[in-house]
Amino acid sequence: MNVYADNAATTKMSSIAIEAMLPYMQTVYGNPSSLHTAGQEAAEALVKARETMASLLGCEPREVYFTSGGSEADNQAILSAARIGARKNKRHIVSTAFEHHAVLHTLKKLEREGYEITLLDVHDNGMVSAAEVAAAIREDTCLVTTMYANNEIGSVLPIAEIGAVCRERGVLFHTDAVQAAGHLDIDVQAQNIDMLSLSAHKFHGPKGVGALYVRKGILITNLIEGGAQERGKRAGTENVPAIMGMAAAFADACAHREQNAAYMARLRDKLIAGLSQIPHSILNGDRDSRLPGNVNFCFEGIEGESLLLLLDQKGICASSGSACTSGSLEPSHVLLSIGRPHEIAHGSLRLSLCPENTEEEVDYMLTAIPEVVAYLRNMSPVWRDMVEGRKEFIIK
Ligand SMILES: *Cc1c(COP(=O)(O)O)cnc(C)c1O
Repeated sequence: MNVYADNAATTKMSSIAIEAMLPYMQTVYGNPSSLHTAGQEAAEALVKARETMASLLGCEPREVYFTSGGSEADNQAILSAARIGARKNKRHIVSTAFEHHAVLHTLKKLEREGYEITLLDVHDNGMVSAAEVAAAIREDTCLVTTMYANNEIGSVLPIAEIGAVCRERGVLFHTDAVQAAGHLDIDVQAQNIDMLSLSAHKFHGPKGVGALYVRKGILITNLIEGGAQERGKRAGTENVPAIMGMAAAFADACAHREQNAAYMARLRDKLIAGLSQIPHSILNGDRDSRLPGNVNFCFEGIEGESLLLLLDQKGICASSGSACTSGSLEPSHVLLSIGRPHEIAHGSLRLSLCPENTEEEVDYMLTAIPEVVAYLRNMSPVWRDMVEGRKEFIIK
C-alpha cells in the first residue's frame, strides 16, 4: 500500500486547481500588463483571483499581494515592519523559538543589522500564550510575528488573542498562517491581524505561489525591484496560472474546511491513540489545540532517518520534522524548543494528513510503524542498554 502522509511538506494538487490553471497556460496566456485583449483577459483573471483571496481572508482585494510562496511573504512582511520601525527608532521584534526558518532566518539577518529579537520560549505542549507575548512587548517593539499553526508539531496558537494584545499596544502583528490556511478559521479583521502569509502548495494548489495580506495603510518594502506589478510592491510578471490555481484551491479548501477538518481529526486521533501504545513514545504538541491532520511522536532509542527510510520501503511517505531540516543531521529546532533532549528529538516522526487519506491507510500505518520501531530498537545498542538497566529511559 502507498500512503502519502507528508502533507505539511507539500500536497498533491487538486484537479480543481489544475483545471483552474489550464486555460491560463493554453489560451489566456497574455501578460497582464499588456494593453491588448489577450493581456487584459489575464489582468481580469488576476482581479478575480485577488477578490476570491480577499473574500476568504476577510479583507479588501487591494490588501492582497501575490508572492512566490510562503517564504517570500514572510520575508517581505518582516523586513517591511522592520523598516517601518526603524523610521520611528523602534528596533525590537517579538517572535517565538519555533517559527519556520523563513521567519527565523529573516530575524537573524535583522539581528545582524542591529535589531533586537526576543524569541519567546515554547511550553512543552507547544504553546505560547498571548500573556507571554504581551509581557515581551516594549516601548521600542515594532513587530510581533508568531505563526498560526506550527508545521512540525501542529500546535495552534491563540492568534486572535495575540492580535488583540498587539492592537491594544499599537504594535504591528504578522502571522505565518501557511499551515493554517484552508484548515483553520482566518478572519484578519476579527483576529486583528496586520499581515498574514500563506502558500498555495500547502492546500492542494501549485508550488511557487503564495500571498501576503497587508492591512491598508501599512507601507511595505519591495524585495524585488522592477515593474509596477502588485501595486508597485512586487515586481515581475505575475504567475497567472499559479495564482488562478491558488485561488481555486483556497476557495475549495475553505468551502469544505469544517467537514475536512472533522474527517482528518478522526483519522489523526486514531493514529495518536494507536501510536501512543508503543512503549517509550511521546506525542509532541498540544493534544487539543492541534491542526486536524498533524501527528508527531518521539520514539526513544531510534533514529528518525532510519525510521523514515524503512517506512518509505513500506510505501509510507512521512517526515521527521520539516523538509527544510531533514537533509541535515541537526535535530529539529522545534522539538528542541519544546524541551525534547537531542537524543529524543532525533527519534521523531511526523505524519501529516489530507482529506484524501483513508481509514485503511491509517490502519496500515498503525501496523507498519510499531513493527519498524520494534525492528530498529532491536538493532540498537542504546536501546539494549536501556532495557537492561545500564541507561535510563528518557521517555518513561
Ligand atoms: C511551508 C512553510 C513555509 C514556506 O512556504 P513556501 O511556499 O514553501 O516558501 C513557511 N512557513 C510555514 C509554517 C510552512 O509550513
